[in-house]
Amino acid sequence: MAVKIFIDAGHGGPNPGAVGNGVIEQDVNLSVATQLADDLRAMGYDVREYRTTPDENVISPVAADLRKRAAEANDWGADYFISIHTNSSTNPAANGIETYVYRLNSTSARLARSIMDAATAALGIKDNGVRQANFSVLRNTNMPAVLVELGYLSNPTEALNLNSSAWRAKIAAAIAEGINNFIINSR
Ligand SMILES: [Zn+2]
Repeated sequence: MAVKIFIDAGHGGPNPGAVGNGVIEQDVNLSVATQLADDLRAMGYDVREYRTTPDENVISPVAADLRKRAAEANDWGADYFISIHTNSSTNPAANGIETYVYRLNSTSARLARSIMDAATAALGIKDNGVRQANFSVLRNTNMPAVLVELGYLSNPTEALNLNSSAWRAKIAAAIAEGINNFIINSR
């Protein structure tokens, strides 16, 4: 049976997420998540996406929406949960990629490291490391789960990249490669 990977494009519907330099987080997340899902399917994985349009599936309030994302992955019996987000900071110089997990020294953290290695190698972006966070989707999922923050919309250079379809395709392919490397190496 194919490994089951649940892809969560962060935000959507009434909750656009961060906005910076004219770029909206939910759009970046959806674009990268959709390409990531396609790339993983092409590798032979069984992929389910929480949303494939700006509004699909998204409910209010946000806390209930986040619980629903985790519950869908749990009910489906996903082997891995990948949430795609884009960052923002009050400091416009802040830049780079980071990936959050519920616990360090875990399968999730090793998966996160593999994603970070592939993404930083492919794009030459700053490696802000694997970090711990008590995020709802990480806490409430039953399988290894990671939340990738692709880059900073508040940084003018990164916002340009995050708005570029070529760059989105490249980071999606790199994340898929990082996931695939991890799964192959853990067999
Ligand atoms: Zn977000």
